[in-house]
Amino acid sequence: HIAVLGSINMDLVAYVAKAPQRGETVTGREFRTLPGGKGANQAVAAARAGATVSMIGAVGNDTFGTQLRSALDHSGVDTDLLRTVEGPSGTAHIVVDDDGGNAIVVIPGANDTLTTLSPGDTAEIASAAALLLQLEIPMEGVLAAAQAARAAGVRTILTPAPARPLPPELLAATDLLLPNEHEAAALTGLPDPADAARALLDQVPEVVVTLGAAGSLYVARGAEPVTVPARRVTAVDTTGAGDTFAGALAVALCEGNYLPQAASWASAASALSVQRPGAAASMPYRTEIDTEAGV
Ligand code: ADP
Repeated sequence: HIAVLGSINMDLVAYVAKAPQRGETVTGREFRTLPGGKGANQAVAAARAGATVSMIGAVGNDTFGTQLRSALDHSGVDTDLLRTVEGPSGTAHIVVDDDGGNAIVVIPGANDTLTTLSPGDTAEIASAAALLLQLEIPMEGVLAAAQAARAAGVRTILTPAPARPLPPELLAATDLLLPNEHEAAALTGLPDPADAARALLDQVPEVVVTLGAAGSLYVARGAEPVTVPARRVTAVDTTGAGDTFAGALAVALCEGNYLPQAASWASAASALSVQRPGAAASMPYRTEIDTEAGV
């Protein structure tokens, strides 16, 4: 099974023709509440891709908390280790304009309480085939989980998003770093993804940089870089493409596939997701991914 430690947010999305300027009020067209957060999104992606997945995270004792927990349950994610804490759930306040541009305020809420692991969390991580991590929770929590995985010999896959400086101890406990091209550039100061990926190999053994419609780039110590193409599709909403990729990649790796092969299957999963609206809502199921990937 796969363990995920990370954020769970309710996305509060306002769709408007043009985003308001400071001091301005505009009338929007539509409002939606959509379960999100990178941790929860990766958990849903992995569960739909066919793995048994447990989510370690926190929601608040508010209505969103109840809704977020049941959305994960509904996607088949094990929520036994989800804590409900005093105070609000994490929320993302998103304004999407007609050009597809967005402006976002994230308020971490309950996610900010994830600074330590419970004995149950540690046991879950230690018995997993892989641990998926991102950076929308406190760094102490991310580091504790990565170190618990390393102590148990569990493969850790870290999506370094949102981009922020990574402590050397975290990189030392990471097996696979999975940035998109912007995060790779932010981490290294190198705008070229291939240069950035090579520089990151000083600190982690394997790196996959996702490149949007240009696919992904795999580099490992002592091996030739491999470019995995994206599928040629018409994208309608790329939100959550990277999280879909991460979840599917983890599943393929846990089933014993080598990385370039796993990345190709993950690109089929994310190609399906970008053709449909929404983040978690657009994530494909196992049979769809296998059909798209031609396996
Ligand atoms: P993020 O969502 O983190 O920014 P990317 O945009 O790099 O991540 O997308 C992750 C993966 O999703 C890519 O490696 C690619 O396989 C797939 N993908 C993203 N955008 C498209 C697209 N327009 N067409 C086909 N596949 C895409």
